Amino acid sequence: MQQCIPGEEDMIRLGMFLGTFLKGEEIIYLRGELGAGKTTLVRGILRGLGFTGRVTSPSFTLMNVYDSQPPVYHFDFYRLEGGDLTDLGLEDYLGKKGITIIEWPEIGASDLPQDALIINIELVEGDYDRGRMVTIQASGPEHIKLLEELTQNVPTGY
Ligand code: ADP
Ligand code: MG
Repeated sequence: MQQCIPGEEDMIRLGMFLGTFLKGEEIIYLRGELGAGKTTLVRGILRGLGFTGRVTSPSFTLMNVYDSQPPVYHFDFYRLEGGDLTDLGLEDYLGKKGITIIEWPEIGASDLPQDALIINIELVEGDYDRGRMVTIQASGPEHIKLLEELTQNVPTGY
């Protein structure tokens, strides 16, 4: 699935749309350069789940937990140093009921499950002030089913 997202508010709306389809056992990888809009999308996802509190970047804390329903474990691996992945207890979170969202999954790739929703955010013409091209792919039966559901229901006009 591919969507052109003109501005920040549209990215929030796309996240809200995604959030309403999540059941609580999903893994979402967010790929895209610094400032692409990964955290903005997570903000929308949490809104879609009905979470009304503040959503901040976990780039320094490496991880934020939101007590949304289902809960969200939001990771950012950008500043991850070798070995930190086990210290983070990622394994524990992957086994729990909740949605795991990871920015910069490339950095911990070898330790991450394959089955996931993979979201790529690209700048249009390399310009931060332009829109974003968001491409969503899926790996594994559960996430493929979710992507099909998303594709069938996505509103037009972002
Ligand atoms: P990342 O987590 O990928 O580093 P952020 O979501 O923290 O990125 O920041 C994205 C920045 O880009 C925000 O300042 C936001 O206002 C801006 N922006 C401009 N256009 C868009 C767009 N179409 N979608 C998302 N963010 C946008
Ligand atoms: Mg971010």
